[in-house]
Amino acid sequence: MGKLYLVSIGPGALDLITPRACEALKKCEIIIGHQLYLDLIQTLIADKMHIASPWGKEIERVDLAINKTVEGNNVSLISSGDIGIYGLGGLALERLGDNNLEIEYEIIPGITSANACASILGAPLAHDFLTLSLSDLLVPKETILERAGFAGKGGFVSVLYNVQSSKRKELVYEVLGKFRPHRSPQTPCGIVSNAFRPEEKNQIVAFEDLFSMQFDMLTTLVLGNDATRVVHNKMVTQRGYSFNNEK
Ligand code: SAH
Repeated sequence: MGKLYLVSIGPGALDLITPRACEALKKCEIIIGHQLYLDLIQTLIADKMHIASPWGKEIERVDLAINKTVEGNNVSLISSGDIGIYGLGGLALERLGDNNLEIEYEIIPGITSANACASILGAPLAHDFLTLSLSDLLVPKETILERAGFAGKGGFVSVLYNVQSSKRKELVYEVLGKFRPHRSPQTPCGIVSNAFRPEEKNQIVAFEDLFSMQFDMLTTLVLGNDATRVVHNKMVTQRGYSFNNEK
């Protein structure tokens, strides 16, 4: 029996992968993940066996990683950002539980898109925030919309993952519609795509502008709240220090 490493590789840049994740990759004979992620860390895993698996084959990918571990290999299953945040970490633990398998495994955390993108935009997550995935493959659309309503009403800075796909075009505008009653049209919002990858793009726009924009699946949105403003072209959510000084 080998050991299974559930490895987070961060947003894209090699120097944003933790030393612990690099060590785990070194210890493995087999690296399993989506081709995009294998490409991102190519220089770290050049001498290893790679197994690429397509989107939508998540259960197969996880089972393959488990089976290869049971066969005696040290295996890394990799995910972008943090493997436990909208990644395969949860599914891997479920499959181990469902199959009553007791293999040795280790979960290695990483920088998730929320804080990676926030750092590019400024400091929009300096106060309470939440994340919401707009993928309706595993969660009913009604649940996503209901949660968006709570997020808007709660006044949280909100980080939207899986914003818009070629098949799911409208949901993002419906979700934004749930925030609309609770956000001023001028609220600063950040759009980051391909954070820390060569194709990186970012922009800060007014909340209302988002309704006429198009996004993709490599984009994360950060919706500010009523304490978020733009300072020197960066988003900042005030924690109240300056309010206190002014009192
Ligand atoms: N486990 C990942 C999230 C996987 S869900 C993490 O912790 O970040 C996939 C979504 O993450 C994408 O649709 C996009 O919203 C976001 N994402 C992943 N990498 C990104 C990057 N480099 N830049 C911007 N958004 C990214």
